[in-house]
Amino acid sequence: MTSLVRLTPQQAELQERARRFVDEELVPHEEAAERAGGRLPDETVDGIIKAAVAARLHGGRHAPEHGGQGWSTTDYVVAHEQLGRNTNGLWWWVPDAYNVMTAGTPEQIDRYLRPALRGEGWVSYAVTEEHAGSDPSGIRATARPDGAGGWVLDGEKWFVTSGDVAAAHIVVAICEGHGPTLFIVDAGTEGLSFIDEPPFTHTFPHGHPTLRLAGVRVGPDAVLGGLGAADTLQQGWFTEERLGIAAHCVAAMGRLLEEAVRWAAGREQGGALLIDHQGVSFPLADSAADAAAARLLVYEVAQLADSGADRKIVHAKASLAKLFASEAAYRCADRAVQTFGGRGYMRTNVAERFLRELRVDRIWEGTSEIQRLIISRSLVRRGVRAVIT
Ligand SMILES: Cc1cc2nc3c(=O)[nH]c(=O)nc-3n(C[C@H](O)[C@H](O)[C@H](O)COP(=O)(O)OP(=O)(O)OC[C@H]3O[C@@H](n4cnc5c(N)ncnc54)[C@H](O)[C@@H]3O)c2cc1C
Repeated sequence: MTSLVRLTPQQAELQERARRFVDEELVPHEEAAERAGGRLPDETVDGIIKAAVAARLHGGRHAPEHGGQGWSTTDYVVAHEQLGRNTNGLWWWVPDAYNVMTAGTPEQIDRYLRPALRGEGWVSYAVTEEHAGSDPSGIRATARPDGAGGWVLDGEKWFVTSGDVAAAHIVVAICEGHGPTLFIVDAGTEGLSFIDEPPFTHTFPHGHPTLRLAGVRVGPDAVLGGLGAADTLQQGWFTEERLGIAAHCVAAMGRLLEEAVRWAAGREQGGALLIDHQGVSFPLADSAADAAAARLLVYEVAQLADSGADRKIVHAKASLAKLFASEAAYRCADRAVQTFGGRGYMRTNVAERFLRELRVDRIWEGTSEIQRLIISRSLVRRGVRAVIT
């Protein structure tokens, strides 16, 4: 026993299963993915999806009756602490779906959630707009009654991850008299179009295109979770996603340290091993401190969530975990690049790829500044001790 984080025998088995999947099915494809701008051949992707399903890693948090694994929050962190050990976002191929889908009607679950968890149909999530990023109160997309029980959607959504391949999009629109509401819109519905497909810093399996909705007609059955339910449903989503990002950052730090230490302990320069130069070893020690502290924080939040703690405290602590882990992981990647020297600047090197890829973890699902806002408000509203102990 080397850690206060105690896993049950089932969680230890899940950890081992996820680690094996990442080492055998994802890591070997990293370089090819990098050279292909993130897009792997269809047969490779099919193999990854089949292996993920065989390893029972798909639909982690979703209910078994919907085709998921029914993981607790701690199980989810255990798995994602492994899934984040690869670059190029290859873990994204493990079939899953946003947790707001559980609010779907039985028909929506059959039509969208079950296929998504089998890896047969992506569902994207479109909240952000040109003038509404950190502040979603600026959302301008609208939903107006079509007079026949359905709705007409208009608006523009930015950065729609997997929008380019999705079978359907969850769109947030303001419904007069009800407020922000989630709608599921099938890809290809008349009036939907992509108006931009920008390149991004990372190489990712899917794009993040800009989606336009111009007079898109949907039926009453497109409403997800009820009229005006978007904000409440998204609260739960943010907590899970932020914790997932933090777990991925912990995973990245572990991988970066393993690779950098192996290199520094094997390469000789100036008559000594790199690791024997304090200029090299001290930054690695700092990275170890960052990784260990972030890991404890992530597991603490997960265990609090599982123990039924106050949701607002869990929300604030998930922000703490995301803020600290994402900033720490970026520092670790930068130090690892320096450890590898010129090799660390090659895209074939794991540290170079992580340095680019980890940057977005300080931006999506709420920027670091937004996490600081949530935390600082909680310090006042919930009290300092509730936030830090
Ligand atoms: C690769 C990628 C994938 C994404 N995927 C999705 C997706 O699938 N679906 C989706 O809906 N969105 C997605 N996003 C959007 C993402 O969530 C937003 O980019 C993010 O919330 C920030 O919004 P913004 O880009 O408009 O920046 P802005 O809100 O304009 O912020 C710009 C800067 O100002 C700071 N700032 C803003 N407000 C404050 C404040 N009150 N106090 C202090 N500082 C502040 C921010 O922290 C940031 O540094 C994605 C983004 C990226 C880059």
